[in-house]
Parts: sequence; C-alpha cells; structure tokens
Amino acid sequence: MGYGEIVGSVRAAFDRGDTRPAAWRRRQLEAMLTMLDEGSDELTGAIVEDLGRSAIEAFYADVGHARLAIRYLLKHFERWSRPRRVSPGMLARPGVAELLAEPLGVALVIAPWNYPVQLLVEPMAAAIAAGNAVVAKPSELSPRTGEVLSRLIRRHLDPAAVAVVEGGVPETTALLEERFDHVFFTGSTAVGRVVMAAAARHLTPVTLELGGKSPAIVAADADLAVAARRIAMGKFLNAGQTCIAPDYVLVERAAKDEFLDRLSAVVGGFYGPDPSRSPDFARIVNERHHDRLVGLLKDCGGQVVVGGDFDRESRYLAPTVVSDPTESSSIMSEEIFGPLLPVVGVDSIDEAVLKVNAGPKPLALYVFTESPATADGVLERTSSGGACVNHTVMHVLPDALPFGGVGDSGIGAYHGKAGFDTFTHYRSVLRKPTRPDPPLLYPPMSRMKERLVRLAFR
Ligand code: NAD
Repeated sequence: MGYGEIVGSVRAAFDRGDTRPAAWRRRQLEAMLTMLDEGSDELTGAIVEDLGRSAIEAFYADVGHARLAIRYLLKHFERWSRPRRVSPGMLARPGVAELLAEPLGVALVIAPWNYPVQLLVEPMAAAIAAGNAVVAKPSELSPRTGEVLSRLIRRHLDPAAVAVVEGGVPETTALLEERFDHVFFTGSTAVGRVVMAAAARHLTPVTLELGGKSPAIVAADADLAVAARRIAMGKFLNAGQTCIAPDYVLVERAAKDEFLDRLSAVVGGFYGPDPSRSPDFARIVNERHHDRLVGLLKDCGGQVVVGGDFDRESRYLAPTVVSDPTESSSIMSEEIFGPLLPVVGVDSIDEAVLKVNAGPKPLALYVFTESPATADGVLERTSSGGACVNHTVMHVLPDALPFGGVGDSGIGAYHGKAGFDTFTHYRSVLRKPTRPDPPLLYPPMSRMKERLVRLAFR
C-alpha cells in the first residue's frame, strides 16, 4: 500500500465514526496496556539491543512510563470528553453555550530513537483517547525496537484506524506529503523545522517536541552532594541521550571545586572504576553520533575531570565531566545529547541567568539552591519548557504537568490532559431556543432599536 492509501484507509475509519465512541477508545487503550504487558520482555530486550541500556531502565523509562500514562488517560478521558457548559453571557441569553470536545481526524506521530517506546506510544495513546485515527512512524535508528513495536501495534490495535509506517528520512518525507489533521513530532530542532514546513503546505497544526541545551544552575548554597547525585543521574541516564538531560552546569565559583569532587565521587559510585563494565551505563546509538560526541570532547578546550575514554567499535563513551570548556566551543553551543557534562564556573547567579538567556529557550532548566528566593529569581528571569528545583528530569513524572518546549525547544505540549487537548478541537456551540425571537438586531433599524443596541453593547 502506498502512503496515500494508508492515510486514506485510516481516514475512512475516522469518517465512518469508528474512532469516536468512548467504547472504541477504551478498547484501544486497554489493548495498548495488554500490548505493553505481553510485549514487555520483548520490548525491553529490543531497547537493550538498540541502546545498550539496562533492562530495568528500559522498563521504567519506556514500557512502565507508557503504561502509567495510558492508565491515567483511561481513568480520565471520558470525563474530559463530556460537553462543558460555559456562561452564554448577557447578550446571548436565553441559550446554552458549551464546548464540545471533538477529535481532529487523522494524527501523524513521528518518534525519535532515544526512548523509542515511550515517545511513540504516549502520543498515540493521547490521540486515541481523544478519538482520532493514527498513523505512527517509529525511528529507524532504533531498528530492533521499531520492528517489535510495529508488529505489536499491528497485532493489538484496530488496524482499520491505527497504522504504522516504518522508514527513515525518504519515507517520512514522502509520508509528510499526505494531508493529516495533526502532526505530532518528537526529535531535533532542525528536523522540527522541516516537519513544520511540510505540515504548513496543508495548514496542518503541529506539536513539536524538540531538544536544546538544558542548563543546570548550582548556587553556592546548594546541597552539593544531592546536586551532584541528581545532576549525574539526569545526565548519564541513557548515556546522556535524553532530551531533558542537563546539558551543562553553571556553578557559582565558590562551590565549583567541591561540586566537581562530589561529581567525580558520584560517577565512581554509580558506575564503578570502569563504567564500560557497568550494566547500568548505556551505549551511543550509532557510530555517527559517537564520532560527533568524540569530536565535541576533543575540541572543547576544557579540562577533563572525569572519564574521557571511548571505544568506537562498542560505541562506548565514558561518563565524562569537563571543567570550563572554551566558551566558543561547539560543546557549549550545540545540544550535546551524550554523556559529556561541561561544568562552567560563574561569579554569580545573575551571570548564570545572563548566560542562559543568551541562548535559545531550553526544553528544561534545573536550579539547585537551599534558598526559595534564589530559585524563584531564576524561574522569573528565565524561560524553559519545564523546570525542576533541586532535581533533574523528574518534572516528566506528574501526569498533571504538561510536557513540552517553548521557543526553539518546541511548540505545544502533552502528557495527561494536555495530550488529550492537543488532539482535540474544542468546538464552540451556542444552542438557542426559537422563542422568544427579539427583533433587536433585525433590520430595519429604528431609533428605539439603536438606543437599545447602544445600551446593550456598552
Ligand atoms: P531526529 O530529528 O533526527 O529524528 C526524529 C524523527 O524524524 C525520526 O523518526 C526520523 O526518522 C525523522 N526524520 C529525520 N530526519 C527527517 C527529515 N529530514 N524529514 C522528515 N523526517 C525526518 O531526532 P533523533 O536523532 O531521533 O532524536 C534526537 C533529538 O530529539 C534530540 O534533539 C532530542 O533533544 C530530541 N528529543 C526531544 C524530545 C522531547 O520530548 N522534546 C524527546 C526525545 C528526543
């Protein structure tokens, strides 16, 4: 089947009304849970193969995370789908004003490779909960997971309304020629621009979940032991290949040496003297990214405090901490997306804020301090998709917190109700009784009508 036929076929299911009933949505979401339960071992095994992650990390950060997200949607989607009455206001009385949650139609979901299950399944679940048909495109760079996921989706979900398309750039480019009612893309900022331009040809709305350089700011008064542990955890999870990983650290100079000492101790504690032998440390997705990261490290001009060793054949790159890289180096301007952590000393929190604001708005921002006023000051004077005070990456967990970027780090959001809203059009409907039928706005106008209109619209 060509892409036109695939999209046409799921669109026909949507147009027939197959996907609208709550019972269909519930069945699909429950089938997704069954798919994740029955396929759990196969999916985590595939992630381990693709990314060298530990099985437990593959479980909780992909399969488990997606399970919880679907359970939350199952619990709430019917309530969110109900018409919501609002005040009609004085001028539209008598009447009933309401918002009807209607699905958009056919949603295209394009996923990256780094959390290949979570980042495909969760937007799909949100689209289905809102009553849409879906075309899903897993990443070609996590091929084993993509293959297992595609097979499981075809087996468990309604094939009339949910399709999977496998492939890389040429296939996705061709797919984007088709008309969708929403495109939900997770990936790099550069490709986000390409996707948005393609969607613009059909005037299709997009959600872009992109990347960027997420800073961690460490104040001199921070609990440095906790800061080191939590920054290392967020950074070295999945070998730094996490969109909301702290990209670099800005630490007040008074605390820098102690912070670096603590960070070295934490990395040793997490991964042992030789992290290449740790079952908890992942590999780089492919040689191209490995070469890119080694290039960033070689040209950064800073002092390697921890790690620095690598092996291209096994795509291993040690958890690495670099102190004060050159400001103009690529490691300080490009999204790193790997286990390299630059730590830069700053004179003050003000200087850290200036540095953050000199770049594009990041996907996440982390601030470590014992002072609520310092934390609030940083949050007030910066902008980012999301943020944590005294932790990293954990803001992804509460279902009630929308997840998304701002500026260069993305457009729109999902998770929980935000995901349902992303795939919903809230249609404004005013229901009027046929009686009374006041002639106030019907021509011909008279002086009396004009006087009343002027009064009413004041
Ligand atoms: P990517 O942009 O290279 O690829 C993402 C998807 O787009 C893949 O499915 C790929 O096949 C497709 N694609 C690639 N080039 C394309 C093109 N020219 N036209 C059409 N489609 C194309 O991203 P990636 O390398 O898979 O993932 C890493 C990036 O994703 C990082 O920048 C990271 O920060 C970001 N990311 C963001 C989030 C988030 O939630 N905001 C989550 C994970 C990753």
